[in-house]
Amino acid sequence: MSTKAAVQLDLGGYREGILSGDRAVLGRALTLVESTRSQDRRLAADLLNELLPHTGSTYRVGITGVPGVGKSTFIDAFGEMLIAKGHKVAVLAVDPSSQRTGGSILADKTRMERLARNPNAFIRPSPSGGTLGGVASRTRECMLICEAAGFDTVLVETVGVGQSEVMVAEMTDFFMVLMLAGAGDEIQGIKRGIMELADCLAVNKADGDNVTAAKRAMTTYNGALKFMRGPEELWQPTAHTCSGLTGIGLEDLWKSVLSHRELLQEADAFDERRASQHVQWFERLLDEGVRAWIAGAPETLSVLESLRTEVRQGSLSPTSAAATMLERLSATIEG
Ligand code: GDP
Repeated sequence: MSTKAAVQLDLGGYREGILSGDRAVLGRALTLVESTRSQDRRLAADLLNELLPHTGSTYRVGITGVPGVGKSTFIDAFGEMLIAKGHKVAVLAVDPSSQRTGGSILADKTRMERLARNPNAFIRPSPSGGTLGGVASRTRECMLICEAAGFDTVLVETVGVGQSEVMVAEMTDFFMVLMLAGAGDEIQGIKRGIMELADCLAVNKADGDNVTAAKRAMTTYNGALKFMRGPEELWQPTAHTCSGLTGIGLEDLWKSVLSHRELLQEADAFDERRASQHVQWFERLLDEGVRAWIAGAPETLSVLESLRTEVRQGSLSPTSAAATMLERLSATIEG
């Protein structure tokens, strides 16, 4: 550990370091927000409050796709392209597997070799441990800190396996779904629910022998998208082709991000979307906090466990069990 890293930082030290774009302090601040120690949580919360005014005027793009679709190759090339345009790019991840394993699917920095070496990029693997909501919440906090440190574009990666996608869509302005061309079964291949999240679909690996199949898939998707409702009333999601390997189509995707933002901003819907996301986040944190509070107190935990047993055995309805639990909680608060 270097002497600099060994120095204890206080709130002001973190704030000044981050605002001046000091990467070492940025790394330490991210470790701080990922810590579960209560004094670290308090300091992290204070730090986030102080940094909040320095965040927000940024692009937040969520990127998902099944393992092997080419996310890391894509992000490597997309990030390089954005940096060439003058942006500073942070790459964060919400990895559902990191709840248990410490981040096996999306953790490896070497997946994005060019970006990892670029001084205008910052790559942070998914926080690990805790609930998926907790992992996503830490990623949101990391996002705000990266923004305050001068990263004007944040790419948040996740994998196409369920709830983590919803959480990433809730923290970003634009949600991109990478797909692969299949053998004519594109529409069946669209996961239920993904259309409600996707601001655009990108048929990846549209290179070499795969170009024709990718274009065909794009046409099919575009046909289907016309009849589906996307996440934003104002915006009609569209399908594109791209290749992280050759870079083809990446400009086009970035143009979509820009048009989407322009459209929402013109309709005064952009800030509104961000504000709702913050309220949603607050409410998620509150839900998690209440659950943690119940689980953390022996008396309430034992009531919870016995009610759960009764519900499982069928001797109590979920409705009565929830009502009993709530009565018990309000008695605890009032008492
Ligand atoms: P991830 O698991 O979604 O992050 O996917 P990777 O980026 O690790 O890519 C999985 C595999 O697909 C690797 O063997 C890549 O070399 C290959 N690959 C990724 N992007 C492309 C692409 O645009 N075109 C082609 N032909 N292969 C690609």
